[in-house]
Order: sequence, then structure tokens, then C-alpha cells
Amino acid sequence: MSLFARTVIRMATAALAFAALAPVASAQEKVLNLYSARHYQTDEALYENFTKATGIRINRVEADDAGILARLKAEGTASPADVILLVDAARLWRGEQEGLFQPVKSALLEQRIPAQFRGGVSAQGVQWWGLSTRGRVVVYDKSRLKSSDVDTYEKLAAPALKGQFCVRSGSHPYNLSLFGSMLEHLGPQATEAWLKGLVSNMARSPKGGDTDQIRGVASGECGVALTNTYYFARLARSSKPEDRAVIDKVGLVFPNQASWGTHVNIAGAAVAKNAKNREAAVQFIEYLASDSAQSYFADGNNEYPVVASVPMNPALAAMGKFKAETVPIAKVGANTAQVQQMLDRVGFK
Ligand code: FE
Repeated sequence: MSLFARTVIRMATAALAFAALAPVASAQEKVLNLYSARHYQTDEALYENFTKATGIRINRVEADDAGILARLKAEGTASPADVILLVDAARLWRGEQEGLFQPVKSALLEQRIPAQFRGGVSAQGVQWWGLSTRGRVVVYDKSRLKSSDVDTYEKLAAPALKGQFCVRSGSHPYNLSLFGSMLEHLGPQATEAWLKGLVSNMARSPKGGDTDQIRGVASGECGVALTNTYYFARLARSSKPEDRAVIDKVGLVFPNQASWGTHVNIAGAAVAKNAKNREAAVQFIEYLASDSAQSYFADGNNEYPVVASVPMNPALAAMGKFKAETVPIAKVGANTAQVQQMLDRVGFK
């Protein structure tokens, strides 16, 4: 037999052996399909540890929040998605409204995750679960302003700050959620007047992300801006001296410490409406609420663990403790449709 023929036979034998084994392996291998709007290096360890503990492999589809919601809608009942991870209450609420999730009852999640950070509740269970939190805070130019000038969300609309306020698009979910929280605290009339005040205080038309607003304050273009806590922490932890120079120039304020507390948003998970692996999906969300997974999940994006007993990372600890608002995040989500109409009326781009 030629070398070639022997090689062919060996390859064929190997293929047969593989074919014989493959169906057994796939019947045994459990797979969980995860649609995730999060993608951080630490997430790898997070998923590997789950597979080690349960034998369930995670098959990840990554897209941004809007992409995930659109994909779930388009796939309908044929969707392979089991678990969905999204990074804002406004989007989680949108998914719930569009019927893309299914309710979950879990004694463990109820014990671990504060009621404030859960989605819609019915007799069938909870629609989504917060897994990490972030504050929406104020940064200001220390050479132009004092912290007492900007220590409430209301003050950002004060005439004294005319031409100084910078912010990303009003319709961005982070802002919609903050404004939805304001609606809960102030009521519709005062909230709309406040939004109008923000528009008249703008240093420039809304553009960029939160990091751009922090840089805008450091460069002097803006006197004051809004950002999520993790963008600030990311610059503070950066190995680049120019990032830390930005942080040196700006002051940070956790707003509304003397009233209802700083607005807090979440990243959270839901079980997909048409999940084929419902049990594993719940198991995965429960795993994400465990102490070790909470650290990984929160640290991946410099967020606060939703489970209060799990410590925050050093960059967040350096920013200090603060009083957070206690408005149920599901209410904030539900208010976002109404505030979008206000934004249109007051010309908040
Ligand atoms: Fe973000």
C-alpha cells in the first residue's frame, strides 16, 4: 500500500471514529445560548467558571443592546437565545414591554437581589434581574465651580450655569433613565421645566459618550457634565498619564445626597421568552448572583455589585460611599416613554 493510500485509510478511520463519538458527545453536552451586550475580558473567566461548575457550555452572541432586542424580535419563536444580558434599565424595560422575556421565580435570586433592582413582577415571577449597578454622577471644572454649585441634579438647570452644561444625547438610555427617575421624584411639570433648563444651559449640542463629557470638562469646553461612575473609574484606573491628568482636573459629585440620593442604574439579565434551556438559563442567572461571579461581573466594567455584601473595586472605593436613590428601577424604566415626549417638546436632542 502506498503511503498515500495508508494516509487516506487512516483519515477515514479517524473520521469514522469521530462520527461514532460525535452524536454521543453532542447529546451529553449542554449548551446555553447567551445574547450579551457586555463584553469585557473578565467575562471569559466568569463563563469558564460556570462551565466548570455545571458542565454547561456558554455559546455567546455579542451585540449592542438595540441589536440584541432587534435580533430577538426578528427570530421570534425560532430564537435560540436562552439568557439575555443588557446594560440599562430603559432597555430591559423595553425588552419586557415587547414580550421578549419570560418571568422567573427563584428563591435564591429573591434573597440575593434587592427588590429595587428587579423588573416587572407577576404571579409567574420576575421579568429581569439587576446584576450590577452604576451611579449617574456630576463632574465639574474645579477651576470654575465649587462642588456646592452642582451638588444636585436640579442645580444643573440653574441660570448660573448658562453655557456650561455638557451631556450626551438626551435620548440615550442612560439619560432617559435618569430623567425617568427625576419624573418619579419631581412630577411631570417640574421635570419638564428642569429639562428645559438643562437645554438652555448647554455649552454645546449633545454629542459623544460619557467619557467625552469628562474630557470636555477637563479641556475647559464644559463647566459641568453628567457621567456614569464606571467611565470616571476607567479613566482613574487608566495606565495612560493623559487619562489620569483628565481626572486630576475635574471634581466628582454624587448628587442629591441631602435629598433622595444619586440616580442608580443597572446591568441585568432575563430569560428569553422562547428559551429552549430554561432551567440552565435560571441556573446561570443564579450563578451570576453568587459572591465570586458578582466580583467578576461588576469589576469587568467598574460597577458596583448588586449583592451588597460583595466588596467594590479600589477605584470605586476611592470615589467614596454615597447615598443611592431607592426608586424601583422598573418604575424608572416605565417612565422613559413619557420623558422622551418631554425631550421632543423642549428640543433636547
Ligand atoms: Fe456605558
